[in-house]
Amino acid sequence: MITSKTKRIGILGWPLEHSLSPVMHNAAFAALQLDYVYVPLPVRPEKLAQAVEGFKAMGFTGVNVTIPHKVAIIPYLDEIDSSAQMVGAVNTVAVRDGKTIGYNTDARGFIQSLLAQQVTVTGKSAVLMGAGGAAKAVVSGLLTSGIASVTIGARSREKAQALTALFPGNANLAGCEWHDPVFIKRLQECDLLINCTPIGMAIHQGEELPVPWSALTPNTVMCDLIYNPPLTKFLAMAQERGHKIVNGAGMLIEQGALAFEIWTGKPAPREIMTEILCKYG
Ligand code: NAP
Repeated sequence: MITSKTKRIGILGWPLEHSLSPVMHNAAFAALQLDYVYVPLPVRPEKLAQAVEGFKAMGFTGVNVTIPHKVAIIPYLDEIDSSAQMVGAVNTVAVRDGKTIGYNTDARGFIQSLLAQQVTVTGKSAVLMGAGGAAKAVVSGLLTSGIASVTIGARSREKAQALTALFPGNANLAGCEWHDPVFIKRLQECDLLINCTPIGMAIHQGEELPVPWSALTPNTVMCDLIYNPPLTKFLAMAQERGHKIVNGAGMLIEQGALAFEIWTGKPAPREIMTEILCKYG
């Protein structure tokens, strides 16, 4: 039962119709019999500052932050944890003694989703396709986990290089246009190939990632950050060719589980969270 004592958590984003976070977190709170509730808080970009004041004033325990607010929220928070500083974006906020602290659980969430599938990154080489917000978290996670090299390919060389510039001092990081011969060579030799673009989602039907399938080594692990559909065309092709595949569902669950642990201080019920995502995802 929701009472005045129930701890409140929200998700700030715009739009929010498709977010599975409310159903995932409410199921997790119920499973551990925690007196928490998680509500969608659709907030237009121009109302973000007021929304931050609003959730603080209403005594929220925390919020998740999603598109388009992950970077824009930073100036309105009291503290930024090192996880969010490294990525330059916040996806989780905790309110403690009236102070807002911003975290990023996407980077660790991505690495933990690989570990859950027995994929390790230390000493390996990774190639990313796409250089947006999610790619930033993936690069941060890979660099803090001992990856040997990361090559980012995007349709715009400038954007790929702008992403590498966010992680200065990493000689093992390169940004290219994705038809660049250097990029194609790295693709052919990499241990991990990660799709960080939305190509594969229903709205991008008919578009394809420029993957030179026949030139890839069979040992390359193929990852897609997309979780809906669970098997994108890219992953289906990879599976057909005998590659190990990892989709984005694990990252979604892990980033949520880490946020849950920040708010509640209790281990997240990952199995319940996974079950609920399979049911509604
Ligand atoms: P984003 O910030 O908009 O970045 C998207 C990237 O993909 C940009 O580099 C963009 O290039 C590129 N791109 C977009 N459309 C393209 C196209 N038609 N052809 C080639 N490149 C294209 O988005 P994001 O937040 O990084 O999200 C990327 C994907 O990751 C989405 O599918 C999202 O659902 C998924 N995701 C999953 C999780 C999870 O927990 N599993 C978490 C976050 C995101 P330009 O800059 O040139 O437009």
